[in-house]
Amino acid sequence: MPYDHAIGKLRRFGLVACFCAGAFAQPVIFQQPLSPRIANYDIDVKLDAEKKMLHGNETLKWFNKSGGTITELQFHLYLNAFRNHKSTFMKESGGVSRGNKIDKDGWGFIEANKIALASGEDLTGSMEFIQPDDGNPDDKTVFRLPLPQPLKPNDSIIVHIDFTGKLPQPPFARTGAKKEYFFVGQWFPKIGVYIDGKWNCHQFHANSEFFADYGVYNVRMTVPEKNILGATGLQVEVKNNGDGTATHFYHAEDVHDFAWTTSPEFVEFKDKTQDVDIRVLMQPDHAYQGPRHVEAAKAAVEYFQNWYGDYPFPNLTVVDPRRGAGGSGGMEYPTLITAGTAYGLPEGIRGVELVIIHEFGHNFWYHLLASNEFEESWMDEGINTYTEIQIVNDKYGPVGDMINWLGIKINGLQLHRGQYIFYSDLDPILRNAWGFYSGTSYGVNSYAKPGVVLTTLQNYLGKEKVQQVMRTYVERWRFKHPKSRDFFNVVDEVAGEDLAWFFDQAFFSNAVLDYSVDRVFTREIKKAEGYDFTLSVAKPDSGMTNGKSQSNDSVDANAKSKMYESGVNVRRLGTFKFPVEMVATFDNGEKVREKWDGQELWKKFTYLKPSKLVSATVDPDFKIPLDLNYTNNSKAVKGSSLGVNKLSVRWLFWLQFLLDQPEFMNLLSAVNSIF
Ligand SMILES: [Zn+2]
Repeated sequence: MPYDHAIGKLRRFGLVACFCAGAFAQPVIFQQPLSPRIANYDIDVKLDAEKKMLHGNETLKWFNKSGGTITELQFHLYLNAFRNHKSTFMKESGGVSRGNKIDKDGWGFIEANKIALASGEDLTGSMEFIQPDDGNPDDKTVFRLPLPQPLKPNDSIIVHIDFTGKLPQPPFARTGAKKEYFFVGQWFPKIGVYIDGKWNCHQFHANSEFFADYGVYNVRMTVPEKNILGATGLQVEVKNNGDGTATHFYHAEDVHDFAWTTSPEFVEFKDKTQDVDIRVLMQPDHAYQGPRHVEAAKAAVEYFQNWYGDYPFPNLTVVDPRRGAGGSGGMEYPTLITAGTAYGLPEGIRGVELVIIHEFGHNFWYHLLASNEFEESWMDEGINTYTEIQIVNDKYGPVGDMINWLGIKINGLQLHRGQYIFYSDLDPILRNAWGFYSGTSYGVNSYAKPGVVLTTLQNYLGKEKVQQVMRTYVERWRFKHPKSRDFFNVVDEVAGEDLAWFFDQAFFSNAVLDYSVDRVFTREIKKAEGYDFTLSVAKPDSGMTNGKSQSNDSVDANAKSKMYESGVNVRRLGTFKFPVEMVATFDNGEKVREKWDGQELWKKFTYLKPSKLVSATVDPDFKIPLDLNYTNNSKAVKGSSLGVNKLSVRWLFWLQFLLDQPEFMNLLSAVNSIF
């Protein structure tokens, strides 16, 4: 929305719009900076819509808040991932990203044409491409810039860079052009993060997202005058240049990236919820779904603010990619996200809602928290998958929250579990993004598995407690680049419990969790024979556990009613140890619930009762979605039906049905690839 219309959030901060004097003249959104504002950009870029080129110049003002003296800078040139087939991205991906293949004529690139300091000193000749991750000399996605003078702690430096970029066609790996539609992401020379005494500036990999410092962005984008434009931040002004072009000036504070989109065809929808203005840019053929997108965006904002904390920005823009430009769909940038839909998508298939809730979630985990996605991808995608599972279930569940269509009911948790169970042990969750066994393993360990792990943790600690964890985590760590240990420490603190045993198994090992009911039996105690045969018998309502009677009663087996000895053997089949519950069901309807710490390889439960054991189920309430194999969780005594576990049976039926459908598997991989 126009800058001066974004009053809701601004009023909260007592905004007085002002344009300060100086090289970084800019409006003000927040009265106080919310972030350290280390990397600040003024960028002027002109789009050549015919040639799909960007001609830009940027002025970076970078503050050395590291505490050390710095002798060089390092920059990302992400668009060079698409330069040719020799880049590390292309070698790793085989030219396929998120389900899209790079077009043989669709390559993109970026050149830093001139680099100079504020003094005018030209440093262009001293830039040097480096490949810190794999040494691939043909990869030109990172360069270093030795400084003529060391940069002392708390000093700042201004660097001017003239650059030319070419966008991939159609959009590939989040960025590019399709006819008159442009989605421009990872598009400008971007400084790395100086952290822990060194530059953290990884190459662009097939399986990795991003890491950057916060700052203030002033970006002027010149595009055809007929075009509508959306971007990170707030629109300050639009100026018609009288030559068929218009320049859109956007301003953003306390963001760590900037993306924009433009097209003459967008159909615009606007709304507002809580204190956030929502703008949705739809393609004409999807325009009828505009209200659906708006509603999903409102739900996302409301849930996140109600459950996890303040979204401190005044607006959110949602972009619907053009047909054939799916490579730019399902992506997150500060205050700007892309969704993705299809004409005729039924209301009961909540793809639009899922993708918008998911991508908005990134405005917390990727944007507000800004962890290093190169090295700890789960901290964004995994936490985001967990929050998506919770929100979608609360909003559209409890059953069929993801798909509720033609009698098919599937929950998001089931979909994520469906991915996890097939690739459960290829890697631990914590690895460099490019260090996983495969792209699939990266996907499962960054999204589905941590989503399932955190849902298991929620069931263990309780929903309220984990929401408190999330709120504490957001409040304490926003704008600070937390690491995994920081998250674990917050969990321990809020839970009041050292959960290292859980985190070590779930995040640092590939241990799989699988408990099963291995054996059940029940048999009538025959009339006693021999000498002085007495039995210790449990009261029907207390049962026997651990083979020891909990009852003081002693009853002769020859007493009037029949007696049955029953047993349940539970086994731990995986190396992941986790406390489990087991319910034994008897033919008089009695259910005996047991707890086991799950540490040993097996546990036997025996009972002596006047009723027969019918069946036994481990994890009867499905509290442990991490359990790899639900099919071995229940067992019925021969001749009895497994009536206790209808939910499980129904679930497995549908899972089996779906896994047999090629369309579903395609959907699953598309869902996996889109986020
Ligand atoms: Zn995502």
